[in-house]
Amino acid sequence: MSSIKELDSKYIAGTYKRFPVEIVSGKGSLVYDETGKEYIDMGSGIAVTSFGVADDIWAAAVAEQASKVQHMSNLYYTEPCVRLAQQLCTRTGMSKVFFSNSGAEANECAIKAARKYAADTLGEEYYTIITLENSFHGRTITTLSATGQEHYHELFRPLTPGFIHVAAGDTAGLEKAFADHKIAAVMIECIQGEGGVLPLEPEFAAAAEKIAHDNGALLVIDEVQTGNGRTGALYAYMNYGLRPDIVSTAKGLAGGLPLGATMLAEKVQNVFGYGDHGSTFGGNPVCCAAAVSNLSRIDDALLAEVKAKGEYLKKRFTGVDGIESVTGMGLMLGLKTVKPAADVVAKCMENGVLCLTAKDKVRLLPALNIPMELVQKAADVIIAACGE
Ligand SMILES: *Cc1c(COP(=O)(O)O)cnc(C)c1O
Repeated sequence: MSSIKELDSKYIAGTYKRFPVEIVSGKGSLVYDETGKEYIDMGSGIAVTSFGVADDIWAAAVAEQASKVQHMSNLYYTEPCVRLAQQLCTRTGMSKVFFSNSGAEANECAIKAARKYAADTLGEEYYTIITLENSFHGRTITTLSATGQEHYHELFRPLTPGFIHVAAGDTAGLEKAFADHKIAAVMIECIQGEGGVLPLEPEFAAAAEKIAHDNGALLVIDEVQTGNGRTGALYAYMNYGLRPDIVSTAKGLAGGLPLGATMLAEKVQNVFGYGDHGSTFGGNPVCCAAAVSNLSRIDDALLAEVKAKGEYLKKRFTGVDGIESVTGMGLMLGLKTVKPAADVVAKCMENGVLCLTAKDKVRLLPALNIPMELVQKAADVIIAACGE
C-alpha cells in the first residue's frame, strides 16, 4: 500500500485528496482494503455501482458483450445502444437519446441541444441558460460555467458566456432573469447533490417549468446523480411530476462503466442533424450492455425497496444526538452533523463504514440493493460516530 500511495503521488496529477485506503476487492456492498479490512460501502463510487461491487449479473453482461464486440465506433450499427435507448425512451416517455461517456458530457450535449433549439425556434440571441446557485453540472469549461459555485470558477477564467445563476426557491428571481435576458433554458438538479443533498421545493420546481415553457424556453434536468433509481423513482423528476424537455444522466446508468445519456423529449428530438454532435466512445457496446442489464433490474420492486431503506435511514437519523438534520430522498441522503462532516466520515472509516461528504454534510449513496442488515449496521456506526 505504501508503495501504491507513493507511486500515486509521484505519477497521478494531484487533483484528488484520497482517503488513506486502497480498495482491492469487494462483493456487493462490502469492500476490502489491502490489509483485508472489511467496509460497508455507503458511497458506491459516488452513486455509480447501482448493484454494488463485482455484482454477478452485471459482470456477466459486461463479459458477454466484451467477448462479442467491445467497440465499433458510431459509424456502424450495434445492438446494445439501440436496446438501451429504447428502454430509456419507453420508461421515461422521452423520444431520442444521445450517448456520451460522463455526466459532464451528458450536460454538454444538453446545453448544445438547448442552444440549438432556442436558436432554431426563438433566434440566435436566445442562448443564455439559467442554472441555480450552489448547483453542480461538471468540470469541463462549459459545465463549470453552468455550475453555480464561484469557487469552481476562480482558476479557469474566461468561462463560457451565457450562464446566469438564480437562487433555488427564488421564483421572482427566475422571472426577473427571463425579463432581463434572452433565455434558452432553465437547467436544474431536483436534488442538489454536490451542493449538499438539497431537494428543490416542489413549488419552485413546478414554477421553473411553467416560467420556462411560458417563455418558449426548455426545462433541462440534470439527473447525473439523482437518476437511475437513486431517489426511489427511475428519475427524480418523476417524484416532482415534472415534464422536462431534456434530461441528462450518467453516474449509476451503467452500474460502474462510463456512460452518459442525454434524453430529448418529442419537441426537441430532431434538434441535431448529421454531424451536429458526436463522440468516439459514446454508446460503447460494453457500457450499453451493462446499462441495459442494470436498468432492467431497476424495476418497481427495487424502487420500493430503495424508498423503504431511505425511510428507515431517515427515521434512524432523525432526532439523534449529533445530527441536526437529514435531507434527501431514497438512497441519496445528507446528514448535517454537529461535528465536522470530515471527522464523522474518518471515524466511520475507522469503524468499517465508507461514507462521503457534500459541502458540510455527510452524504450517503449506497448501492440500490444494499442488504437491510448492512443498512442497519452502517446506521449504528454512523450514529455512534456523530455522537462521540
Ligand atoms: C457528478 C455530477 C456531474 C458530473 O459528472 P462526471 O461524470 O463527473 O462528469 C454533473 N452533474 C451532477 C448533478 C453530478 O452529480
